Amino acid sequence: MAKTRPDRQPMPEQPHDVRARNFDEVALGYDEETAVTEASRCLGCKTKPCVSGCPVEIDIPGFVARIRERDIAGAISILKESNCLPAICGRVCPQEVQCEERCVLAKKGESVAVGRLERFAADWEAKQDSSAGVQKAQPTGKRAAVIGSGPGGLTVAAELARRGHAVTIFEALHMPGGVLAYGIPEFRLPKAIVEREVEFVKSLGVDVLTDVVVGRTLTIDEIFGQGYDAVFVGVGAGLPSFLGIPGENLLHVYSANEYLTRANLMKAYLDQYDTPITSGGTVIVVGGGNVAMDSARTALRMGAEEVRLVYRRSRTEMPARAEEVIHAEEEGIVLDLLTNPVQVLGDDEMRVRGIECIRMELGAPDDSGRRRPVPIAGSEFQIEANTVVIAIGNKANPLLTKVTPGMDTNKWGYIITDPETGRTTREGVYAGGDIVTGAATVILAMGAGLRCARAMHEYMIST
Ligand code: FAD
Ligand code: SF4
Repeated sequence: MAKTRPDRQPMPEQPHDVRARNFDEVALGYDEETAVTEASRCLGCKTKPCVSGCPVEIDIPGFVARIRERDIAGAISILKESNCLPAICGRVCPQEVQCEERCVLAKKGESVAVGRLERFAADWEAKQDSSAGVQKAQPTGKRAAVIGSGPGGLTVAAELARRGHAVTIFEALHMPGGVLAYGIPEFRLPKAIVEREVEFVKSLGVDVLTDVVVGRTLTIDEIFGQGYDAVFVGVGAGLPSFLGIPGENLLHVYSANEYLTRANLMKAYLDQYDTPITSGGTVIVVGGGNVAMDSARTALRMGAEEVRLVYRRSRTEMPARAEEVIHAEEEGIVLDLLTNPVQVLGDDEMRVRGIECIRMELGAPDDSGRRRPVPIAGSEFQIEANTVVIAIGNKANPLLTKVTPGMDTNKWGYIITDPETGRTTREGVYAGGDIVTGAATVILAMGAGLRCARAMHEYMIST
């Protein structure tokens, strides 16, 4: 009789009515038995189609096989060969459009749960006394500077340190991690996990200097003047976009960046911190992407009585991961679709009292391929609210690029690079992540970091 494969193992989660009011992690992770069962579903395909879907090319069948054999230390060693942040990627990567989409079992909607297994192995290691050692080359005598400590910068730093170079990260904020630290909320990515993975990068010999805004505190020219041989720019795309409508300057209107930074990095959700943030009442979040979902779900946990998400297109066009939208709705967030704000309304003290919106309908597809939202004349209406969070995207911050001669940018302010190497138009300077591509994903920033690190290594040993 043919052997039947077990079903894809579900991820245990906090019940939605409980989790909606706490900042604890929503997904609880596999236990060892579940992980071994899930790993046993992998066919160990010789052609490894899943690996081609991974921007950092993890040996997926290799680490999954180790889990099946209960050699979890072996699994984590394989993961760390290609990925210095496995507990983070196991939580936040959109695997459904990467490795898991390429899995041969995906056709039946039953791909191996690669991300959950990666998370399991990384969390298992966190519970041990020691962590997997990584091989390091002899010192080369070369020095590299990494500007920005997001996933792109951390990857470059780890990879160059492993290749024997002395690496210093310069970070503008008081804590390393980039969006992992200040953007993605605690309930999706606990900050203790980010700190632990940053510690792993530091353990490879990487120095991290915080509170250094390159472009203000010091320039790239001055960094070269200090004797660095090559520089990586991974400053992300952290400048928030606004709607440009009347009332956006009223009190209690936040960009998603500011709102999430106050909640996450400045720990407004903990009683022992005095970080000011508005809470309670009705919160309106404008946008339909993952950042909007994170803002809405954070607002709920900060104590809002009602959270409404206002989005100008329909559900089909929402850029957020389907899973995030389902989670948000389960928790009680109301979606106001085909709705666009036209002004933010204020009271006598310049505080938000609501927004005026107009109903939209979908017209012909626009440049993005999605159907263009068109206002329906005369359909204006108002929603009362005490807080508005604008989550309609981010763009490049020109602070560093405009004071760096010879490093060209495109018309949107993103740094122009050679796609194979990340080399910029300035000798010895490389760039990757959101400051090159525009807002993207953690693993794409890491993939770019890996390519840059290889090219920087070749450059440094040849000069
Ligand atoms: P960043 O993570 O933006 O890091 C850049 C770092 O550079 C920051 O620490 C910044 O302080 C520092 N910096 C900036 N300017 C300077 C300067 N002048 N000098 C020194 N340092 C500087 N992606 C996913 O894959 N999955 C998710 O679930 C997900 N959720 C997200 C949720 C939110 C709220 C946001 C905002 C983004 C999310 N993303 C997600 C996208 C992902 O986080 C980014 O694509 C990724 O972090 C980009 O990495 P990066 O290294 O290019 O830059
Ligand atoms: Fe395993 Fe799927 Fe990769 Fe095949 S494609 S090796 S089944 S994870």
